[in-house]
Amino acid sequence: MKQATMKRIPNKIESVVIRRLIDESPDTSWLGEYSNRPTSEYSIDRAHSLDCASVALNADKAQTTLENARGTVAELQALEPSSDTLEWQALEDAYYLLDGLVDEVKECDCGERGDMERGEYRYFNPSFNYVSSTGKIQDGLTPEDVRKYTLQDYERTERLNRGDWCFLGIRAEAEISIPSVSAPHISTLQTIHSGGLCGIESDSDKAHFAETEANELAELREQLYALGFSKRAIAIAFKPENIRHKDN
Ligand SMILES: [Zn+2]
Repeated sequence: MKQATMKRIPNKIESVVIRRLIDESPDTSWLGEYSNRPTSEYSIDRAHSLDCASVALNADKAQTTLENARGTVAELQALEPSSDTLEWQALEDAYYLLDGLVDEVKECDCGERGDMERGEYRYFNPSFNYVSSTGKIQDGLTPEDVRKYTLQDYERTERLNRGDWCFLGIRAEAEISIPSVSAPHISTLQTIHSGGLCGIESDSDKAHFAETEANELAELREQLYALGFSKRAIAIAFKPENIRHKDN
């Protein structure tokens, strides 16, 4: 049994790498979703610019106010004893002026120059964090909140689609060499890696990246320790100057 008496060459940590990967298919549904159909009045109509009168926040209110004013004018006019008076004519003019404004106040004034490109979805629907599937606002939120947050998420999603930012995954990897028991001069390289964290926004602050990297490195250290590497071997391999950073 010659082999059994041979001194086995120990496994070795060859390198430690922190790898950043681009998350190609992130779940962005929590930011909201594009669709052919609006799910509620809080959906963003991408056919129009965000400041178009047809989608303006106060357009509905303004229209209601004008309709009420038009109704009041009609009531006052009905009280006039005759249609030959100056008052009657003044109310008649006011009525038609208001009647014109009722339609105009919600008319598109952007020339339908929204973000929607040919073949794209027309609507951006709010996140389920703000509006339920039945179109109800989630508890604790006001309509103003929902509009504000949906707009923020919409603009962020548009920037994501333009490539201004992306989602990243981070994990720590160690390459270890395992010498063959029967032929010690031949080693097999294996990569051990931490679980990794996905869904990190690429424009997150440095502290968030540093914390994530530290967590991934700590997890990798534990795995290597569990595999039988000595604390000393691990400490050397994990010295900051020995850790490399790689993208993809
Ligand atoms: Zn418009």
